Amino acid sequence: MISRKKMETEKAPYTMDEKQYQRFPVTKQAFAIVSTRDKGEPSYLGFLDKMHATLGQRMQKNQEGYTQTDNALDLGANALNLILGSYGFPNSQLLKWNPLFTPEFLVGNRVEKEPDVLAEMAKQAAKWYGSDLTGITELDEKWIYSQEMSKPFILTEDGAAEETEEAYYLPKSMNRAVVMAFLMDEPMIGTSPELPASTATSLGYSRMGITAVSLAEYIRALGYQAIPCMNDTAISIPLAVDAGLGQLGRHGLLITPEYGSNVRLCKVLTDMPMTPDKPIDFGVTQFCENCLLCAEHCPSGSISNGKPAMQTEYETGNDGVLKWFVHAEECLHFWQENGASCANCITVCPFTFGFESMQCFECERCESWDRGCVLQDNTIYRRKNGYLKQDTWASRAEVLSPKRRGL
Ligand code: SF4
Ligand code: SF4
Repeated sequence: MISRKKMETEKAPYTMDEKQYQRFPVTKQAFAIVSTRDKGEPSYLGFLDKMHATLGQRMQKNQEGYTQTDNALDLGANALNLILGSYGFPNSQLLKWNPLFTPEFLVGNRVEKEPDVLAEMAKQAAKWYGSDLTGITELDEKWIYSQEMSKPFILTEDGAAEETEEAYYLPKSMNRAVVMAFLMDEPMIGTSPELPASTATSLGYSRMGITAVSLAEYIRALGYQAIPCMNDTAISIPLAVDAGLGQLGRHGLLITPEYGSNVRLCKVLTDMPMTPDKPIDFGVTQFCENCLLCAEHCPSGSISNGKPAMQTEYETGNDGVLKWFVHAEECLHFWQENGASCANCITVCPFTFGFESMQCFECERCESWDRGCVLQDNTIYRRKNGYLKQDTWASRAEVLSPKRRGL
């Protein structure tokens, strides 16, 4: 496996126009726009009603992939997500910004160690609580949402993080984010767009909720402030890119070297002084330019098959970062028609399950880059099953040999 050290870069692998970029409000997310339109009042999860109605119809017909049994497994998988944070709303449920159980005498009683040591401690704890990949970044204010559904996020010069009736206040001293990725069940994600893929997602949410809440409490018990976040408070994908977990793909998702896009993301914001990780570049952008598989397999046609751009006409997009924009509203409409969330773009991505020979021939990385091919060496498919046959033009990749020794 190509080491992460070899992929490290000094600068995060994206291009920004700082003059164009504005902090993004949650109210412009597709979840909020579709839900608010459906319900006729401000709503974030209201879009689920139509999705569940379709699922109910499919269950009644006992349609394969959408049966009562499938639904039962999903409800079990999602239970802890709903108890802990319901996908993520700031300072709510167990995602409280204040300590949950840490005794008063430990609050603010800082364990002083070198930033490298504190970073390692946080990573070890995150791993132990359930994270599959953990990175640390300086918290770039750009990625903090400007606005929740009803009130703004305001950055303050000092003090503690707090919520009032008017706003959420975040002190600038909370300048680190521990970003975590959670591998989702591969066979289940592979059933997309059927319900078991949604179930893998639900379990990912439950697992990330447990870990975010646990890690935040650990950091508080070390005497520092910590905010556990699921989808809320700051945008997870750019934070994950900054923290060196992976790169942004054409489908608008993070791609990690180890698991491709088959991950869910959460983060803990803190003032614990930890050494940040470096971002990585393993050629995703160049690869996506030629690949297009996610765009071809997207049932709602939401993924661009054109060039990356700085600006978008989509209401849910945010100008100022060079990327492929995704028509997220259309994506959600498909979820509603389907009766379950979709993960086709995750499953077809070669970084998730291994490459196909076509992409290998089309990719120019081997000739242009000296760091080796992550697709060939790092995909979880390859690590689990061994090397793939590379010389078959336009046919599915085939496992040639058992797992190679040393991998
Ligand atoms: S989740 Fe499905 S519908 Fe949405 S962008 Fe991905 S492939 Fe398209
Ligand atoms: S499927 Fe291909 S184009 Fe889409 S994100 Fe993955 S590598 Fe990029």
